[in-house]
Amino acid sequence: FGRLCTAGLLSFLLFLNAPIQTFVIPHSHMDVGWVYTIQESMHAYAANVYSSVTEELSKVKERRFIAVEQEFFRLWWDTVASVTQKKQVQQLIKEGRLEFIIGGQVMHDEAVTDLDDDILQMMEGHGFLYETFGVRPQFSWHVDPFGASATTPVLFALAGFNAHLISRIDYDLKDTMQKNKKLQFVWRGSPSLKSQQEIFTHTMDQFSYCTPSYLPFSNRSGFYWNGVALFPDPPKDGIYPNMSLPVTKETVHAYAKTMVENIKQRAAWFRTNHVLWPWGCDKQFYNSSVQFNNMDPLMKYINQNSKEFGVSVQYATLSEYFQAIYQSNLTWEVRGSEDFLPYSTEPYQAWTGFYASRNVLKGVARQASSKLYAAETLFARYRISFPDGPVAKDWALDKLRALRWAVSEVQHHDGITGTESPKVADMYLQHLLQAMMGAEELLAALFLLPHNLESPSTLADVDQALEQHVIIYNPLAWNITTIVNVTVTQPSAAVFDDDGQPVPAQIQGSAHSNATYDLFIVVELGGLQYRKYLIKFSENSKAYEAKAVSFERRSAKDRAKAGRRLLPVLSECYELLFDQDTNLLHSITYLEEKRRVMITQDFWEYDANGDVKAGPISDNYIFSANGSAVRAYKAVEMEMIISGKIVTEIRQYFYREESDKDYAYSITTRVPECFGTKLPCHRLEQTYSLGPLSLNTEVVLRTSTSVKNNRTLYSDDNGYQMMKRTYRKFTNNTLARNYFPMVRTAYIEDDLSRLVLVSDRAHGVSSQTDGQLEVMLHRRLWNNLQWNLGYNLTLNDSSVVRPTLWLMLGSVSATSKLYQREAVQLQHRPVVMPIDQPRKCLPHRGSPLRSVVLPPNLHLLSLSVPGWNYCSNHSVHLNLHSQPDYDRILLRIMHLFEEGEDPELSKPVTINLKEALQGMGEVKGVEERSLTGTWDIASLQRWKWKTRTRDDNFTVTISPKEIRTFFVHFVSRNF
Ligand SMILES: [Zn+2]
Repeated sequence: FGRLCTAGLLSFLLFLNAPIQTFVIPHSHMDVGWVYTIQESMHAYAANVYSSVTEELSKVKERRFIAVEQEFFRLWWDTVASVTQKKQVQQLIKEGRLEFIIGGQVMHDEAVTDLDDDILQMMEGHGFLYETFGVRPQFSWHVDPFGASATTPVLFALAGFNAHLISRIDYDLKDTMQKNKKLQFVWRGSPSLKSQQEIFTHTMDQFSYCTPSYLPFSNRSGFYWNGVALFPDPPKDGIYPNMSLPVTKETVHAYAKTMVENIKQRAAWFRTNHVLWPWGCDKQFYNSSVQFNNMDPLMKYINQNSKEFGVSVQYATLSEYFQAIYQSNLTWEVRGSEDFLPYSTEPYQAWTGFYASRNVLKGVARQASSKLYAAETLFARYRISFPDGPVAKDWALDKLRALRWAVSEVQHHDGITGTESPKVADMYLQHLLQAMMGAEELLAALFLLPHNLESPSTLADVDQALEQHVIIYNPLAWNITTIVNVTVTQPSAAVFDDDGQPVPAQIQGSAHSNATYDLFIVVELGGLQYRKYLIKFSENSKAYEAKAVSFERRSAKDRAKAGRRLLPVLSECYELLFDQDTNLLHSITYLEEKRRVMITQDFWEYDANGDVKAGPISDNYIFSANGSAVRAYKAVEMEMIISGKIVTEIRQYFYREESDKDYAYSITTRVPECFGTKLPCHRLEQTYSLGPLSLNTEVVLRTSTSVKNNRTLYSDDNGYQMMKRTYRKFTNNTLARNYFPMVRTAYIEDDLSRLVLVSDRAHGVSSQTDGQLEVMLHRRLWNNLQWNLGYNLTLNDSSVVRPTLWLMLGSVSATSKLYQREAVQLQHRPVVMPIDQPRKCLPHRGSPLRSVVLPPNLHLLSLSVPGWNYCSNHSVHLNLHSQPDYDRILLRIMHLFEEGEDPELSKPVTINLKEALQGMGEVKGVEERSLTGTWDIASLQRWKWKTRTRDDNFTVTISPKEIRTFFVHFVSRNF
């Protein structure tokens, strides 16, 4: 103490004397899915949470509550809440006692979600809250996602949040942080945006988001006076199971002592004198009168004796807690852009299995997201071009909203993760598929309609059986040349564009069916443009009919002979060599630098343990391999479809036993033959087929190479940024703890070469041996853990899955220019739509839409008609409840590159929005907004927020990794 100045000593002593200030935050964690469907949850407890909390808060002014998952709140608001309850809610919000936290439809998963969808689900909730209550959430409460991504804090900062909260991080790391009082820090999630989008982050302590339930003076749980929710129906008499001992004269002291001890234990882990004490857990507060009527007297008792206890308690919202921390004015440590993935709860509990659980759901969720993106961009274009066109705007918005809702919902941390019960997985799928059909109806209407405004078609009557018209739409704001695959039932065909010119095409028998054929068409499309194509089926067609060459089945035992008879497949970018003695890939040479990399690909299986008595098990969440992977096949067959026209296809079939009739796994590789065309030759498309798997099997595609990566790999956080994943040795469970999520991209590299995979859905990835990159594609499990059986969460997934990866190989600098755009292009492949009645609607001339093209490093992240009815100006918007605004277009642009990643593409880009969007219409005004659109960027002052000068004209500069959001107003173009 000798060196402390007097003032410092004084404040230190005051600090010692001041009671610990405790913020009791009442909350209910309400999973949008997981074990029970949304409907079941609404019925059993969720509706009662909002009804009873509204009533109880209105009775006593000290009481508080935070509302998190908007989907449940909105369902309650729209279908349950009475007029009186709605008025009460408005009042409680005004008084700051009912507070919306996060404000998204769900608490989204952080490991396997894509940023498009994270933004969407947040915007969906934020739009509703702003429109209905004029409020904008400013704090997060990510208490349950399984690990924390570094993209989330960036997105929350961009949305205008002042603080972020996480909980589930690696158990030993949390332990260390807790001991060293480092659970709170300022997170700079993006290495390019740095402090510009930093955010204060609170990590929950070891008790996480549930109130400690152990009561030393009773054999019942504590602080859960309303017991546990009852399914399927709430009890008629209001008596729930496991209701805690009431707070009475006799019990109050024992309760107070228990609570105070817990508060003091936690206070020691934090730097300020404030303790966040979450009061609640999963499915709580459905009978909140019992909750509050017990907590009220308990808190009163503690406060009356606060000197003796050294603790004061108060009901609080999350913003009240963070305000207190902010006002403490301390200097915080900065955390860089590293994430908290993967997540382990115990030595043998690595939560790395869910990266690959329920491949089908993960795939459909991403397809739905792309369909939504295509429908949004096309509808926005339509609104600008044909504001009085015949597609009914409210009908269109209904279709879009249904799909926005379905895609938002599945981002839940027990949704797209694949960790839900089978009936809940079916619920998500049903919602997604139904809404996708609606979006297809909308797309069909939009594609056909502009033509009705033109002169009638001149096409002669034709026999429809002999021809098929398709519309192909490029939803990206880049010009593209690509191969589109159309499944047809005829063995020969010719393709013509809308000018009647023949289009390069190739037709061949399909890899997975004897009844269909793959017709590959080379399409060239401008940004946000579509064209019509005519497919003519006839004997003397012009499309190249590719022929298959089959190679004899080879036993895996013959590996020793490898390397003697190599079969080359040449493209403009690569020479691939296939080994005729193994039927496996042997090597790929990238021709630009004439560098050969040895590459073999095959399937391996981890044998999962399902018996809890025999050691750690694998389940929906957890990957716990029972030893190393074993080769998943005994023999391989190969079929090569050589064309020399558009694409060479190599099909490899992997047989479990040498004499098996049916293959267990397959790889279909497509090598574009693009000599002299604009087709990108660096993209090798692979589609795999797996399943049904045998029980307790986890299958990986293993790509073994001569790349000296030292077991380091890179994988992305939510498609936004790449994370370096260094191989780490642990005392236990090293294999599973070196698994990482891959949402869009993973790569391995050495000084010379980089092998990149981009994906159409999330997977788990790992590099277990030098030069290897393995992708877990599918899992089928069963175990006898009572808890898993009770909730039907063992993951007995017998589906057949067909994921796609694009593979690229090249120098580090060459691939640095490519992979970001490739990942976006895989996500947003052209939309192919057959048209049934060509006579009515096909005009002779090209697409009426002019192209819209952004620079190569800028991606059109969103272009939509949100349809909110609020005014952009916060101070007046609540007085204006009118019809949805169909003329306000939301535009979001993202810079795809990190600072320093590429000498050219990493530069900030200045564009004039009026010029960039002129293909769409004439821009008359642009307002920059926060990420979810609810803040005018000029009025948004985040805590520690640096102000930025506003661009008054239409010129904006977008720096590396920036995402900038605008409302764009076009000059109305009525016909
Ligand atoms: Zn949860």
